[in-house]
Amino acid sequence: MTTIDTDVRVAGAGPAGLAAAIELGSRGVRVLVIERKERGGTAPRPKTTNVRTRTHLRRWGIADRLAEEAPFGVDYPNNMVFVTRLAGHELSRFANAFNAAPERSALYPEHGQWVPQYTLEKVMGEKVRSLPSVDLRFNTLFVAAMQDDRGVVATIVAMGGDETTVTARYLIGADGARSAVRELIGAKLEGRAGLSHAYNIIFRAPGLAEAHPHGPAAIYWQIGKDGFSAIGPMDRDDTWFFMPGGAKPGDRLSDAEAQAVIADCTGIDLPYDILSADSWTASELLADRYADRRFILVGDAAHLHPPAGGYGMNMGVGDGADIGWKIAATLAGSGGPGLVGTYETERRPTHCAVIDEAMANYAIYVAPVPPAIEDATDEGAAIRATVGAGVQATKGREFDTLGAILGLDYASPIVAAEPGEPPPHDSQVYTPTARAGYLAPHAWLADGRSLYDAFGDGFALIAADDADPAQVAAAAAQA
Ligand SMILES: Cc1cc2nc3c(=O)[nH]c(=O)nc-3n(C[C@H](O)[C@H](O)[C@H](O)COP(=O)(O)OP(=O)(O)OC[C@H]3O[C@@H](n4cnc5c(N)ncnc54)[C@H](O)[C@@H]3O)c2cc1C
Repeated sequence: MTTIDTDVRVAGAGPAGLAAAIELGSRGVRVLVIERKERGGTAPRPKTTNVRTRTHLRRWGIADRLAEEAPFGVDYPNNMVFVTRLAGHELSRFANAFNAAPERSALYPEHGQWVPQYTLEKVMGEKVRSLPSVDLRFNTLFVAAMQDDRGVVATIVAMGGDETTVTARYLIGADGARSAVRELIGAKLEGRAGLSHAYNIIFRAPGLAEAHPHGPAAIYWQIGKDGFSAIGPMDRDDTWFFMPGGAKPGDRLSDAEAQAVIADCTGIDLPYDILSADSWTASELLADRYADRRFILVGDAAHLHPPAGGYGMNMGVGDGADIGWKIAATLAGSGGPGLVGTYETERRPTHCAVIDEAMANYAIYVAPVPPAIEDATDEGAAIRATVGAGVQATKGREFDTLGAILGLDYASPIVAAEPGEPPPHDSQVYTPTARAGYLAPHAWLADGRSLYDAFGDGFALIAADDADPAQVAAAAAQA
């Protein structure tokens, strides 16, 4: 049996595992990432890469690469358009959802981006492969692991049967909702599973973008007499996604049935070429603990939330960034003995707040609408006006979430306690604050760089122009 010695072994090469690998590998830490599948494909996972995730990407030097990969260009409008059906009447719309317009903002250096998860993973994977200390292996299964005071011994098996022993200092479980590492540490998911079920169909439909009157958008939310469904462009080559409403566990449609449902719900009859379909379940679950000494959970292995608001993948990237610098500092000898433990102390309240936010969004259901909503009559127009006003009053929260993305704070033994009340939290409105534990307020420097570009990889001391030089020198010496 062969043996590999490394510093950190990561199980799972989804967004959370790749983020941890980049953060560690950028700091020279040796990492072995193993993934049991070939990732990629057309799975209809997230398309919202939020401003915080893209700010991590900027730090890693790949935000511009992701922008280049935007299927329709980064300036494709991230509109959310509510219609009776794609061929029908408009009810309401929200522009620039998730701050995805490529505008210069004082609040953050990178806008959000509408891009399929597999494209984000491709760009993160390229970065991982460029890091000399990271070894990324697909078609390799994590089987078992043990730990003691000195490290971790794990067994992995490559497809084809070769078993390898891996010795490492830490094992990161980025192995998703059915995490084996979570089982290994005896953690339980708490909350509610199976809140709702969804069925996603990916299809190709040349001409569909031109066959409706509503202009470009990321998602067209259809609220018609037949119920709710969502449809939108997914990628180049006229690839779209469609999610019929009211899905049940285990739903399976033949291609002919899927084609008929799409034509019926949109009111547009085109040759729909079905590429793939899969079902998924929305849950509200949090692991009762994230770590046992050298085994640590990140991403969906630790927390699962409904997709409303687009948090899951973005949270996983944030987890990977957080545990990455902490393990790197610990291995380098500059982190204290409790540093790795602050990962759970700091991230758990953030996950709880974001799950609450996703649940609040998820709870805003559009009530069944009267069948006359599609009629070209005064009654139909009145129903559309009422439904549209209801959507406008309630759904905006889901698409405008800067407070939840940038405004949550960390409280832990490594964050200085400050006197006074923290600023009030608003999930929609982000108010920058220099209070300890919060994201450093962003600013553009005179030379055009972001303040964050000047931070570098280690600690940064920010001194105002009028700061007392003696105090600055004392603070620098303390750091
Ligand atoms: C329809 C839908 C829409 C969504 N929309 C959004 C959105 O807009 N924004 C957002 O932020 N999130 C969204 N999410 C959630 C997002 O997809 C997940 O949160 C994200 O993929 C989790 O990343 P992860 O790296 O933690 O886990 P995963 O992506 O699940 O990756 C885990 C990996 O571990 C591998 N693995 C498992 N066990 C082993 C083993 N024993 N050995 C080796 N490898 C193993 C798996 O093969 C898998 O590739 C959405 C989800 C769905 C279903």
